Amino acid sequence: MELISVVVPCYNEEESLPLFYDEIKRVSAEMKEKNELSFEYIFVDDGSKDKTLSILREMAKEDNDVRYVSFSRNFGKEAAMYAGLEATKGDYVVILDADLQHPPKLIPEMYSYVKSGECDCAATRRISRKGEPKLLSFFSNQFYNVINKISQTYIVNGAQDFRFMKRQMVDAILSMSEYNRFSKGIFSWVGFKTKFIEVENTERVAGTTKWNFFKLLRYSFEGILAFSTAPIEFPVFAGIFSCFSAFVLLIILLIDIFLWHTGWTQTLTLLTVLLFAAGVVLISLGIMGQYISKTYMEVKKRPIYIKAEDETSQR
Ligand code: UDP
Ligand code: MG
Repeated sequence: MELISVVVPCYNEEESLPLFYDEIKRVSAEMKEKNELSFEYIFVDDGSKDKTLSILREMAKEDNDVRYVSFSRNFGKEAAMYAGLEATKGDYVVILDADLQHPPKLIPEMYSYVKSGECDCAATRRISRKGEPKLLSFFSNQFYNVINKISQTYIVNGAQDFRFMKRQMVDAILSMSEYNRFSKGIFSWVGFKTKFIEVENTERVAGTTKWNFFKLLRYSFEGILAFSTAPIEFPVFAGIFSCFSAFVLLIILLIDIFLWHTGWTQTLTLLTVLLFAAGVVLISLGIMGQYISKTYMEVKKRPIYIKAEDETSQR
């Protein structure tokens, strides 16, 4: 019998949790009727300050399929997802939010895609940003534009953390044990075939969002820093530009000395020297940046490759 692990990060979700639990139980009961399946539910209490933990204790007591991990303080959703994945034993794992913004009723469809071998991971992608402030949508879209220009890892605009994955992909994600985690990038970095189901934006059932503009901004920098070394390598280009400008000025300076005699010689000399010196410093910084960025990537200890299949997979 196949096991599906459901992973739910929870931070101050006392209001949504009971509603979520009813819904996920309803969906899994439906799936069990049609397929030979069993479920385990892994809730991660990310240092909640409300009754989330006591609700989870109660749920685990009543329902043997429910397990939970509770953090000593708030470590953030990324850490909660990692802990949740680590605790799973299933052949398939689905991660979703506790606020029903990731509707559990999509799980049967996701399961069928992965089960049939059509893909290794089924995820949702929101195609509308209804209910979100216009300015925030603008910045979000810009974030995807920027990161996809400077990073090798392609991140699909609007892709959500609602993922139904094969065990193999979960193990690959767990093998990326970096501390500064940016799941949107990690899901994409590990590869495997992902099918996106397009969904409308769903509002949260109860409680409030834990995100605000500044947290999102910080998170987007996290993403850029985790998946691109462009910022630290940038000074090289500025330096080359600066040296090139110095070279052009030098030519103008020489023409001025021998031909034009404008009387600007001193200023031009000063500018040429300044631009050249700045250029040399910037290029040196950029070269150091190259070494630092390589060291940075090594320190993450990401796997060198991730295997999808070999001949034993078919036997
Ligand atoms: N969450 C968490 N730790 C945090 C913040 C959020 O585990 O520090 C959980 C939260 O309980 C929810 C999910 O992550 O299940 C998404 O959070 P939220 O709904 O606040 O984000 P949004 O949907 O507004 O992006
Ligand atoms: Mg939410």
